[in-house]
Amino acid sequence: MVWNTTDCRRWSQTEDDQLFAMVAEGKSAGAIAKAIDRSESSVYHRIEMLAGKPKAKKRHCMCCGREFASDGPHHRLCGSCRHRNLSPYAP
Ligand SMILES: [Zn+2]
Repeated sequence: MVWNTTDCRRWSQTEDDQLFAMVAEGKSAGAIAKAIDRSESSVYHRIEMLAGKPKAKKRHCMCCGREFASDGPHHRLCGSCRHRNLSPYAP
């Protein structure tokens, strides 16, 4: 059943290896996509992910208002506030 045009199949180790090999050879994302039967955007995303490109987004901390690199929508406190004891009973 096709319910989404987004290619969300898992990447196998073999596909990753193939992807890496082709990237190393300087193949284009389009060529790689064809070779491993995936969409071009899926290939792009995988390359980005494997390259460890930070997806971090700048956000303002909900606590101190400082800007910090957020991992995602769930990540709203900066590093120091996250580890700070926010209990009103804390000394
Ligand atoms: Zn903060």
